[in-house]
Amino acid sequence: MKSWSDRLNPVVRDIPPSGIRKFFDLVCETPGVISLGVGEPDFVTPWHIREACIYSLEKGHTMYTSNCGLPELRRAIAGDLAASYGVRYDPGTEILITVGVSEALDLAMRALLSPGDEVLMPEPSYVSYSPTVLMAGGRPVPIATGLEEGFKLAAARVEAAVTPRTKVLLLCYPNNPTGAVMDRQSLLDIAAVAEAHDLVVISDEIYDKLTYDGKHTCVSALPGMKERTILLNGFSKSYAMTGWRIGYACGNPDFIAAMTKIHQYTILCAPITAQKAALEAVTRGGEGMLRMVQQYNRRRHLVMHAFRDMGLPCFEPRGAFYAFPQISATGLTSEDFAADLLREEKVAVVPGNAFGPSGEGFVRCSYAASTEDLGEAFRRMARFVRRRGVR
Ligand code: PLP
Repeated sequence: MKSWSDRLNPVVRDIPPSGIRKFFDLVCETPGVISLGVGEPDFVTPWHIREACIYSLEKGHTMYTSNCGLPELRRAIAGDLAASYGVRYDPGTEILITVGVSEALDLAMRALLSPGDEVLMPEPSYVSYSPTVLMAGGRPVPIATGLEEGFKLAAARVEAAVTPRTKVLLLCYPNNPTGAVMDRQSLLDIAAVAEAHDLVVISDEIYDKLTYDGKHTCVSALPGMKERTILLNGFSKSYAMTGWRIGYACGNPDFIAAMTKIHQYTILCAPITAQKAALEAVTRGGEGMLRMVQQYNRRRHLVMHAFRDMGLPCFEPRGAFYAFPQISATGLTSEDFAADLLREEKVAVVPGNAFGPSGEGFVRCSYAASTEDLGEAFRRMARFVRRRGVR
């Protein structure tokens, strides 16, 4: 009998396991760890959202929904996008409710890519991007960004990376893992490159509501960009709803129909109970969300102080809930830093190379953790860094 490894689709076989999961497994095996590893709000979903879900169950809402998702949820999302960014989507044809942004990303790639099509993406990048592109038959083309440029993507670098096979530019601002955001002018410059080369832009804006210094720029709201942009967003981060698994894609009706075709044969629809909860979140969750954002912002300042005191250079995150300090002064690789810190001080962070080679020399620390945990984690980290001769 052939081994299972020989039977596997080689693309799937050869994709390495997520660098985040690897550390998360280690964390689970080690008692007493303070984890700054996973990118997940430490808040429980606000009560009124949970209550809306319970109420929907009491009323017997337990069936499939339309493949595209509950019409009232799509209408509410369209209303939110119009109010926040002035961008108008038809809830009947231009919005698809998915099982998290993860499913939306997978559908978009599968609907778009033919074998060998290239997808440009800034790096360091969210761990799922490259594997999702590879599994859809495409070729990820990372564009390295660095601390000196504030992890921003320069239009000239995008231009230089375009080839005749380039089909998609995948953006993620506010960014995971760096916390970088893009200003409007830089996005306009990138939009001009996308237009010049007729690229599709997939914009993952899952952290749009978690911005601290100024207003988020929605890529599809830029002049001329709605038609070529597939906007992805969801409820996991802004409303502390990671486990509910609700996201959405907005875009051209023909393209949304293509994504819906895959979705209707594979997923059918996102779970109705979670869609009911999402409806409550988008219609009445604004205040609770703002309170969480204020807390993240306070913690962001605490984190920046901590790294300054430790003597580790850290780009000041402007969105999301991650800090990405440079740890090269310790003389350790990012994997050794994360492994030794976990073993010696029981603090979990993610090595920067999990987000691509240009993340080497950095680690990602999530500040979606309580102030007490952050304080203790940074006391331990400071001790660890001092032992490596920094400061
Ligand atoms: N996109 C980015 C940039 C993320 O950081 C994450 C989760 O960490 C996701 C998408 C996945 O989101 P969802 O829970 O909606 O599938």
